[in-house]
Amino acid sequence: MKRIVIYGECMVELRTESAQTLTKSYAGDTYNSAVYLKRCLPSSSVSFLTAIGADFLSDELMFNMGENEINTDYVFRSVSRNLGLYMIRNDEHGERDFAYWRSQSAATQTFTLLEETKTSIHCDWFYFSGISIAILDVPQRESLFAVIDELSKNGSKIVFDPNYRASLWDTKEDAQYWTERAYQVSDLTFPGADDHLMLYGHRTADDIFSYLANKNIDEIVVKNGSVGVHILEGKEQRIVPVERVEQVIDTTAAGDAFNGGYLAARLSGKKPVESASYGAKVAATVITYPGAIIPLIDFNNHIPT
Ligand code: ADP
Repeated sequence: MKRIVIYGECMVELRTESAQTLTKSYAGDTYNSAVYLKRCLPSSSVSFLTAIGADFLSDELMFNMGENEINTDYVFRSVSRNLGLYMIRNDEHGERDFAYWRSQSAATQTFTLLEETKTSIHCDWFYFSGISIAILDVPQRESLFAVIDELSKNGSKIVFDPNYRASLWDTKEDAQYWTERAYQVSDLTFPGADDHLMLYGHRTADDIFSYLANKNIDEIVVKNGSVGVHILEGKEQRIVPVERVEQVIDTTAAGDAFNGGYLAARLSGKKPVESASYGAKVAATVITYPGAIIPLIDFNNHIPT
């Protein structure tokens, strides 16, 4: 059984139902991918690396991880911090507004706690995102890269999604610096067309491939909404069409769901093109529901084994 460790932050998600009513759940970019990966490929071992607090919401998240069969061996507890939180408001035109309370969250202490507890990570694949980097201070970012270095040396495959969120970075240059470092250590990456447009001004998949050409990445999977997926594996470029969903309810976590499905398919031995079609199907399901993680009972995208 392949073991994947996914590092990042899971927060409380509060979704506005009406002026007085909020619906509570648990989500965060890499956590969403972890949940969808496990749902797609129940035989895989998916561990989440993060820190949570000692508060009751953190306890509920532990329960949520249990329900989703996510391994919690690498979930640390901070005694002084709480779980991060965000709110989503959908207006009548389907546009979304987000508000975050995460700058002092427990997850921002993940690598301090990893070092204090002298924990070492073991896995076949390690997955992280630009958000996972952005929430850390600089010494902890260096610790993250030291962990990745060690994992790489021991043969783990490193997977990265830039997931650029301008508000989490001090400057765009800072984001560019750390994103580039992440690309340099990665074997498989999921650049989003929007991320690269905002971060580097890239307008086409070819712009992205040219920028990444000297970074020694085996597999590059460019997501671009319903436009399609561009894959570069070695020197071979492929375009995978995406069937457009007309009745989109909420695009939250589309990219995360795609990544979870793609990784599940790759872990089960499928080729990149087939994995992209599969990831697109998972994303297409997720965007027809509100919120990041759809009810388990409505999820029918398991990989046939
Ligand atoms: P992100 O959420 O990271 O911005 P995208 O918007 O590119 O990522 O969406 C990720 C994936 O979700 C796409 O590759 C595609 O498979 C799927 N997707 C997004 N929007 C649609 C849509 N309107 N119809 C069908 N699939 C979609």
